[in-house]
Amino acid sequence: MGKTTGFLEIQRKKWPTRPVAERLRDWKEVYLPYPGAELQQQGARCMDCGVPFCHQGCPLGNLIPDWNDLVYRDRWRDAIERLHATNNFPEFTGRLCPAPCEGACVLGINDDPVTIKAVEVSIIEHAFERGWVAPEAPAVRTGKKVAVVGSGPAGLAAAEQLNRAGHSVIVFERADRIGGLLRYGIPEFKMEKRFLDRRLGLMEKAGVVFQTNAHVGVNLPVADLRRDFDALVLAGGACAPRDLSIPGRELGGIHFAMDYLTLSNRRCEGDAIPEDAFISAAGKRVVIIGGGDTGADCLGTVHRQGAVSVHQFELLPRPPDTRAPDNPWPQWPNIFRVSSAHEEGGERVYSVSTQRFLGDGGRVRRLEAVKVDMVRANGRVEFRPVAGSDFGLDVDLVLLAMGFVGPEKPGLLTDLGVRLTERGTVWRDASWMTSVPGAFTCGDMQRGQSLIVWAIAEGRSAARGVDAFLMGRSELPAPLG
Ligand SMILES: Cc1cc2nc3c(=O)[nH]c(=O)nc-3n(C[C@H](O)[C@H](O)[C@H](O)COP(=O)(O)OP(=O)(O)OC[C@H]3O[C@@H](n4cnc5c(N)ncnc54)[C@H](O)[C@@H]3O)c2cc1C
Ligand code: SF4
Repeated sequence: MGKTTGFLEIQRKKWPTRPVAERLRDWKEVYLPYPGAELQQQGARCMDCGVPFCHQGCPLGNLIPDWNDLVYRDRWRDAIERLHATNNFPEFTGRLCPAPCEGACVLGINDDPVTIKAVEVSIIEHAFERGWVAPEAPAVRTGKKVAVVGSGPAGLAAAEQLNRAGHSVIVFERADRIGGLLRYGIPEFKMEKRFLDRRLGLMEKAGVVFQTNAHVGVNLPVADLRRDFDALVLAGGACAPRDLSIPGRELGGIHFAMDYLTLSNRRCEGDAIPEDAFISAAGKRVVIIGGGDTGADCLGTVHRQGAVSVHQFELLPRPPDTRAPDNPWPQWPNIFRVSSAHEEGGERVYSVSTQRFLGDGGRVRRLEAVKVDMVRANGRVEFRPVAGSDFGLDVDLVLLAMGFVGPEKPGLLTDLGVRLTERGTVWRDASWMTSVPGAFTCGDMQRGQSLIVWAIAEGRSAARGVDAFLMGRSELPAPLG
């Protein structure tokens, strides 16, 4: 703890962003680099708690008080070593994580928490600028081969760890580019893809092999992987979308969020997509159904494409501005949040249930909805329509962002014959192995749609399970056991 009175003297400073009018004209990141000297002062707010609850909040077990202090003392090289010890990709989490560590920070009991996320991303960018981040090829190869299926953050973390342990790793990805939701889900304005490509380049130099357009269970038989590899890691995510089965759902102009975001991300990558194959919000009245992060990513994209109006519907009531009595620290605070996309415009409508879509010429033109009350009865949550609250809204484009129901089953999972949990995710044992010997799993495929930080933590943990399976023991760190 460099400055013992730091938390008393220094206030949390908001992360600077580009002005809304400027950022809506491009796809570049919303956040500006945090000014170095001010960031060091923010690091001084850390109290180096005897029991650092930020550790408990972070699935990776990041050594947060250590690097807060090192940044304050201007010891950036030590800080990046400490940060990389627990996190393969701090440039992803530092930009994209909702920061459960900040929700658990002890300072948050009666003050604003330490700005942990900004410190994290500043450490890694500082390190890249100075050339301190290099490929980490293993000194010795074990002769064992591992196939990782899926190239999202879980698959990438598992691949990097297994490569470090000396195994030969090939990552198979059905898409035409590597990255999973980091590539085609998360928009450029939240994380520019050059940061993903920079990390992938390092992994390739360290020896990880990437194979795209390889859809395991479709154009690449699972049996081939079983034959050619000593172990498998299933990291295929959980992208089966939740649908809204109401009258009019079949009309044109109603799309799943991921179909919409993928096309937009492809255009940002420079792909030539013909207009008739693209989903654009330009000049349209848009309704996004789903008030979560995927909906917010649609919102930011819709604004940049030039929609004339945007409403974002949410079934749940508006969260409170401060923690509710049944949501005490250090739990994740379920409070009203304003993301960068919300700052840019659009109207958020809470406690609303869409009843049907109406159209003409096969395209959606209007929707009908009703306000609802959330009621807890017999241990269950019900949404009861409020009498007389029905309303209609003219709409040209509807984006369904109501979450995901789990991993896609046909192909990979059915061919392999893995056991599923009652939630439809892939079952695993304590060593991260599925019911099929030698086949391991991690990330959203076993957890259900979650967060990047969990995917990385699980990828690291599953890698240790694989390494121990192949070698009889493992030195790899595993945050989740
Ligand atoms: C729009 C959106 C925005 C999000 N924003 C955030 C955010 O800001 N912060 C955050 O922390 N989390 C966010 N999340 C959640 C986060 O992206 C996921 O939890 C995380 O990416 C899960 O990582 P994963 O590696 O398990 O799966 P994924 O990232 O989903 O990657 C799985 C990969 O496996 C591939 N695959 C699947 N089956 C096969 C197969 N049979 N053969 C070959 N390849 C296959 C898929 O094509 C995909 O590329 C967001 C999610 C969405 C949908
Ligand atoms: S809980 Fe907050 S104040 Fe305490 S060590 Fe962690 S970051 Fe620092």
